[in-house]
Amino acid sequence: MAEQIKILFLSSEVVPFAKTGGLADVSGTLPVVLKGLGADIRLALPYYRIIREGGFKTDLLFNRLEVPFGREKLSANVFVTETEESIPVYLIEREDLYDRPNLYGNSMGDYYDNIERFTFFDHASLKIAEALGFRPDVIHCHDWQTGMVPALIKGPYSESSVLSGTSVLFTFHNLGHQGIFPVDKLYITGLSADKFFHMEGLEYWGNISLLKAGIVYSDAVTTVSPTYAREVQTGSYGMGMEGLLYKKRSILHGILNGVDYRLWDPATDMHLSANYSLSDMTGKGQCKDFLIQEMGILPSLRERPLIGIISRLEAQKGFDLLEEIIEDVIALNVGVVALGTGEVTVQKAFENAVKRYPGRISFHTGFNEPLAHRIMAGADIFLVPSRYEPCGLTQMYALRYGTVPIVRATGGLNDSIDRFEPRTGKGNGFKFIPYNSSAFFQVLCEAEEIFRDKKAWEKLMENGMKADFSWGQSARRYLEIYRSVMDV
Ligand code: ADP
Repeated sequence: MAEQIKILFLSSEVVPFAKTGGLADVSGTLPVVLKGLGADIRLALPYYRIIREGGFKTDLLFNRLEVPFGREKLSANVFVTETEESIPVYLIEREDLYDRPNLYGNSMGDYYDNIERFTFFDHASLKIAEALGFRPDVIHCHDWQTGMVPALIKGPYSESSVLSGTSVLFTFHNLGHQGIFPVDKLYITGLSADKFFHMEGLEYWGNISLLKAGIVYSDAVTTVSPTYAREVQTGSYGMGMEGLLYKKRSILHGILNGVDYRLWDPATDMHLSANYSLSDMTGKGQCKDFLIQEMGILPSLRERPLIGIISRLEAQKGFDLLEEIIEDVIALNVGVVALGTGEVTVQKAFENAVKRYPGRISFHTGFNEPLAHRIMAGADIFLVPSRYEPCGLTQMYALRYGTVPIVRATGGLNDSIDRFEPRTGKGNGFKFIPYNSSAFFQVLCEAEEIFRDKKAWEKLMENGMKADFSWGQSARRYLEIYRSVMDV
């Protein structure tokens, strides 16, 4: 039997401990599936305030562990907790860095010291492995917050008795977040400028990019859908990294994220007022009634399509297209329920729309997990009109809830949604290709028309609910890639 593979899995957010988006969903589920496939997998996280307040049972593991920080050493207390599946999670306590209201920033923008916060996290994670004598075969890093790790492994830790020779896989979940910081902060990382600060290294137009560090110094790179892996090698989607990613194409893989059906299944979802499944759909109607009431949508719209939105509100997500055509959308006599938080301008656009069309559009701001589940279940249509979307999870959740996705054909949206053909009864949603509001409106009209044909709509819902986007296959792909980097 092959020896048990050992993985240190580093991500700055993990369900159920801390979440701002899909990264947390992935980091909460993939390790569980990998463990099920036989891996010895361990996680580390900053001990954010939200985790301190989460009521998790923790034990002190290391008192005042010394962690390099610039030319000095700072100490951190390290606690350990476990997931339900007995996966160890090391929590790095530094109140000055992590005991804050949010993970990354506040309404004024990102925290000014994020490079300090996440470089410390990266170093501390490696120091924990050393102190435990845990020699991972692969360190699997996610996004810019852990992008320093591959460089550290190739630099200061190449001499480590525990970590030298460890392979590193870097997964980027969104090229829009590049971890860019001024070069005068390089000293914090402990990396020598001569060796690392140049165009073939982590230098990015005169600054440091932690995302670039992750891509450059890892043994393989993955992203979260096959389409996005291709798109990022082009100028339209590469966000300045396209040249580098094209060069790395032989070690760049696209693996579609999976869905955690333990959390996202209308048959068992504990947040719903009624559960349902393909064999008995009555609960979905009840969920719609409840949502209409909860969100203050006009009861007269009960028989009309109810459109759901759950999203970080950033330019990436494409809601400017909806704003452009909102009058025409409302003229279709539909209801819209939206949940989101993010950029003030996008939020304002939703608030203005609610003022113009009370009872037809309803918007809830903030991060609200239970409401997200109720929207998934109660809506008929789910919108994801993204400018770009590395994978996107919500459209896959929507499918399982019998809520028909309308998406832009990009990244993982393109890989998971197939256009419905009424003639053949094949397909699970609707998608538009060019990023403009008329293409978007055209598919909305198409969906509205099919909605009126109850039989066709039922078939469409059924196709979505039967689809299987669980993690099994993707997790096996990760294992293959782990094994391939171990051999390099
Ligand atoms: P991204 O990672 O870009 O945010 P994904 O579609 O991959 O997009 O994942 C988004 C995740 O965050 C989903 O689980 C979605 O339900 C959740 N989410 C986004 N905004 C909110 C919100 N305001 N309240 C609750 N959950 C949210």
